Amino acid sequence: MHQVQLAGLTVDTRHAIGGERIASAETFDSVSPIDGSVLAHISRGGAAEVDAAVQAARAAFPAWRDLGPDGRGELLHRLADLVEANLEQLANLETLDNGSLLRSHRRGVMPRVAMNIRFFADWAINRLHHEVWQTRGHDNNVSWDPSGVAALITPWNAPLMLATWKIGPALAAGDTVVLKPAEWTPLSASVFADLANEAGIPPGVVNVVQGFGAEAGAALVAHPGIARISFTGSVPTAKAIARSAADNLTPVSFELGGKSPLIVTDDADLDLAVDLAVEQYDNAGQVCLSGTRLLVHEGVADRFAEAFAARVAALRQGDPREDETQIGPQIHRVHLERIDGFVQRAREGGARIAFGGGPNDELGGLYYRPTLVVDAAPGSEILTAEVFGPVLAMQTFATDEEAVELANGTEFGLAAVVVCGDRARAERLTKNLVAGTIWVNCFFVRDLAAPFGGSKKSGIGREGGTWSFDFYADVKNTVYAPTGWKE
Ligand code: NAD
Repeated sequence: MHQVQLAGLTVDTRHAIGGERIASAETFDSVSPIDGSVLAHISRGGAAEVDAAVQAARAAFPAWRDLGPDGRGELLHRLADLVEANLEQLANLETLDNGSLLRSHRRGVMPRVAMNIRFFADWAINRLHHEVWQTRGHDNNVSWDPSGVAALITPWNAPLMLATWKIGPALAAGDTVVLKPAEWTPLSASVFADLANEAGIPPGVVNVVQGFGAEAGAALVAHPGIARISFTGSVPTAKAIARSAADNLTPVSFELGGKSPLIVTDDADLDLAVDLAVEQYDNAGQVCLSGTRLLVHEGVADRFAEAFAARVAALRQGDPREDETQIGPQIHRVHLERIDGFVQRAREGGARIAFGGGPNDELGGLYYRPTLVVDAAPGSEILTAEVFGPVLAMQTFATDEEAVELANGTEFGLAAVVVCGDRARAERLTKNLVAGTIWVNCFFVRDLAAPFGGSKKSGIGREGGTWSFDFYADVKNTVYAPTGWKE
């Protein structure tokens, strides 16, 4: 009754707390965006389940901390092995639950899940040595001490990838975790909790509480027993979490939304620019980093727009399980209507829809056509607010200074893409862009050692490499005097 068979996996619908499965009296449905079928009835947690999970994580903390990086690393590598052994099933399960392309899950996302765990386990073992240097003969001795229970809250667009981007470094740092996955995509986290068990990770180190943001999520971030909050999601939710965190002064790491620019200069390789622009529709536009504002030099705008429209017209939209599909469904009816609302308001405000502009009637369901909005009024909603769907807007510019001004002209600062034919010119452009990550003549190249996060309203803090440990750990400096020792 509490387990369903999906994609060759047994998915437990109950919370994973202290190594046990605990059911709530109420449930919510996990629905597949592919065809609207109900996949499972999931336990709907609240304050009581969150409290039990935090207590379990606190109880498990001292032993996990004392295991040290090597002991933890061995178990984390075993967990990554299990992810790899179940890669095909996990890829299929995630596609059923969130509608992203199966081939991306197979080739990119699930291998990255395993890497999220291995990479940070190895970093803690090999790279996080105590740093020592001398000041007037005294030794400064810096260490990264485990800090306690990390509360992790994740969105639905890349569920297990984003969960392990937090779980990997938190566990490697010696923290124990309570994860609250998004209510639209809870399934892979539940399986992951079983894999952690199977890997021999002690009970209470990895806890998963399922439920709605306003219930389970709000109770978790307000809990006085947690040491850290790492949140990926939207700006309004981050504001609510920040208010709760303030009461306990809990440190937060926020990875939030974006409205990133993709700048095409007049000396750019236009084929490359079109390739990169088409990539911005990946995951049906449900990618925080997407360069959704195409800022194109006026001298090449017509040629670019024509080639881009032709390429998008050839994109194949459909069932994300099929290999040829390039754009799948949106996550949920509520989200599809939200996306369409942005497009219709832009149209009513005088913008022109160059292509797309509504659901794909041939497919029905949750498939929204890849859309390009042009001639929108400066400062209007479609040019400044995050749509989080397959909707790009194009603007033109005359000078590089104007491009930078347009690029920086939103409250976000997550990412930017620059397509440019001259290195010195690209360097001048990137120097003045406000963004956590900038890709020049490429997109989505990620090194887990690099800092990742957003400027302005796109986030607080950075994760990745040492930055992750700076957040999840208590960084400590112990100063030893050269004197006072008994011979
Ligand atoms: P969301 O903010 O609605 O929800 C994210 C998570 O927060 C969910 O698990 C939700 O249940 C929980 N939540 C909601 N209200 C809460 C509350 N009051 N207290 C605690 N938790 C609460 O975001 P979403 O719609 O799931 O995700 C889309 C957003 O995530 C977009 O803005 C996107 O840009 C952003 N995102 C950012 C990154 C990044 O790395 N910067 C990555 C992916 C997605």
